[in-house]
Amino acid sequence: MQRPNRNIAITAGIAIIAEIAIIAEIKKSTPALLAIVTIMAIHPSRLSRREFFEISAAGAIAVTNRDARPANRRSAALPQGVAAGWYDQPMRWVQLTLVENDPGTFDPQFWLDYFRRLHADAATLSAGGIVAYYPTEIPLHHRSAWLGNSDPFGTLLTGCRNMNMRVVARTDPHAVRDEVRAAHPDWISVAADGQPRRHWANRDLWVTCALGPYNFDFMDQVHREIETRYKVDGIFSNRWAPQGGDCYCVHCQQNFKAASGFDLPRTADRRDTVRHAFVAWRKTRLTELWKKWDATVRSVNPNASFIPNGPPDMKTAGELAAIQFTDNQARRGLTPPWNNGRRAKELRSVMGTRPIGGIFSVGLEEPYRWKDSVQSEPEIRVWVAEGTANGMRPWVTKFSGVLYDKRWLPMVERIYDWHYKHERYLRNEMPLARVGLLYSEQTQAEHPGVAQGDRAEDHVLGMYHALLESRVPFELVHEAFLTPDRLDRFKALVLADAAALSDAQCAAIRDYVKRGGSLVATFATSLYDEAGRRRGDFGLADVFGVSFNGRIEGPMQNSYLSLDAAPATGKRHPVLEGLEDTPRIINGAFRIDVKATANDFPSPVTLIPTYPDLPMEDVYPRVAHTSTRELYLRDLGKSRIAYVPWDISRTFWEVLAVDHLRLLRNIIGWAANEQPPAVVEGPGIVDVTVWRQKGSMTVHLVNLTNPMMMKGPLREVIPVGAQRVRITLPEGVQARKVQLLTAGTAPRTETSNRTLTLTVPSVDVHEVIAVDF
Ligand SMILES: [Zn+2]
Repeated sequence: MQRPNRNIAITAGIAIIAEIAIIAEIKKSTPALLAIVTIMAIHPSRLSRREFFEISAAGAIAVTNRDARPANRRSAALPQGVAAGWYDQPMRWVQLTLVENDPGTFDPQFWLDYFRRLHADAATLSAGGIVAYYPTEIPLHHRSAWLGNSDPFGTLLTGCRNMNMRVVARTDPHAVRDEVRAAHPDWISVAADGQPRRHWANRDLWVTCALGPYNFDFMDQVHREIETRYKVDGIFSNRWAPQGGDCYCVHCQQNFKAASGFDLPRTADRRDTVRHAFVAWRKTRLTELWKKWDATVRSVNPNASFIPNGPPDMKTAGELAAIQFTDNQARRGLTPPWNNGRRAKELRSVMGTRPIGGIFSVGLEEPYRWKDSVQSEPEIRVWVAEGTANGMRPWVTKFSGVLYDKRWLPMVERIYDWHYKHERYLRNEMPLARVGLLYSEQTQAEHPGVAQGDRAEDHVLGMYHALLESRVPFELVHEAFLTPDRLDRFKALVLADAAALSDAQCAAIRDYVKRGGSLVATFATSLYDEAGRRRGDFGLADVFGVSFNGRIEGPMQNSYLSLDAAPATGKRHPVLEGLEDTPRIINGAFRIDVKATANDFPSPVTLIPTYPDLPMEDVYPRVAHTSTRELYLRDLGKSRIAYVPWDISRTFWEVLAVDHLRLLRNIIGWAANEQPPAVVEGPGIVDVTVWRQKGSMTVHLVNLTNPMMMKGPLREVIPVGAQRVRITLPEGVQARKVQLLTAGTAPRTETSNRTLTLTVPSVDVHEVIAVDF
């Protein structure tokens, strides 16, 4: 049986890019600057000046941005070089991806009417690439065989413009017909065996090389033609990164050699020097491609830009993008619905307050790709609600202008209608969460785990689930932006096995603690550097007050934790609240052997070492109690530090034990040591997010309580009972009006100092408490 995490890993990649495993590597690769440093260290003379300066410039943009600007004001949050513009206006997006035989068959007016009923502000419409849906003049740009004299793209565009909608043209450059291969064999991706790569899903087509002249020259012309002819607001490319595996074409060979001095790697082992250089080079090429297409689009229309479906990595998105979307269309396999909210948080961790959209489909998203299918309404609702509650704007995508199963039309209309009605409360200015969870792409890419069975992402997923189940409003914090303006809004930063951290990143976290921030760190956090090399001691050893003792143990069978009272007072530490009726709970599966270097640690949790679990006659502890601490708590006054030397959140993700949840919740509460922005008490599993808008604040409650929570699709909506809510109002404001947006009621409220108390009688899928000031 598969564990939940495996399937999350599958859905977890950015967008379409992630569907091809080889490409998923891109998102996980080293941040651009580090990557370039790596290449230069290998072959300083091989890196072209142009590549170096482009990347240096991108780095400089990030540095300038992080120092200068408060991130809590939308207009002030754009990095230099990122266009301000129309991008923040649209609240609701639609996408129609035509199929080749749509022209002359589908009814554009049906779609335009539907867009109007959805109150859509922006549309992404098929224009070109594999098929042109307009009368292109570019040789080898294949016009739909059904096009005739029509221009369906132009027709839809005009219709949208007449409704004051923004229009982004969609292109898909990843496949071509045989006539293109015959004319330009070097435009086709080449497999490891030297053969041109046929399309895996349609054997009549060929996969293009994403990093060669097909994209850099031919698609650049296509983008120029579309922009020139239609003055679209942007161009969005699907599957613009390498598809189907590594390309060994003549251009990739030459360009990689020129950049790195190496021949293309023949191994997928990320530890391989050449492989490492290749991943960095591929990301650099994609970033160049993004910049080239963007420059072309802007040269024709300065108010437009190129929008990639999935950035080369998250840091690059943070540096270049005015707007981004998560192409996480629905859940598949064993995935909780919060995975959509997680994607929103990930993107926001680099985009700050710039707009982000959540692409969702209405069908089942499973490996069999039933693209014309229709999903259950409760499933679509909870998926979109998770995106909306986490700050994403909805973007429904549909393939094929001709519909077979139309059940989804009223479902999406109901969701968009709600969104339109409450738009002013959804135009967020900033999240009010006070807990940040570190999002380390570099740990996922560079740190394979301490042993078989340990995977860094599982620690993060477990922590994510524990925070959500504890109803703690939280944000993700990206490792590339550990600056005071991003960090200091949080009272506590959580490092769930953030194993691979650079010295500079450790220093940034240390400074955050010095400024009064609290820390919860687990397991191998900072035990490795940014390249995944093990350090002699934790990079944050001084902050933890704990040093590595040289040994990592696990997987352990049948080990426990003793819950101990303080000898002096006979009282238990507050982190053990709710565990009063037991002297012990289960341990995790892995532990890091550490020794204290600071004094005065309490000892609330100690190790009961593993003992035989068979035969049953042998199952008794050989050592009943030890003085080995398994939780290190430091109270530094304003800051509190909690270090957990075992895999608490990884084991939680695997086992979901309630005792581990209680302990995690208590540790995070102890470290944060303040009243959260919202406390929501009541039955069920509810995702709580808190936002500030101009003149109001909102608390979103998404009800995930459902037997189909961990494996969709939902069959029915099961409303959850009364939720008692305490909201901490921002300083200096009075609650003028309080509403429950979905229920359409005004609840009775009490206010005492800055605390507003109310009861939400029930939540079906998504309720929003809106407080006007
Ligand atoms: Zn190639």
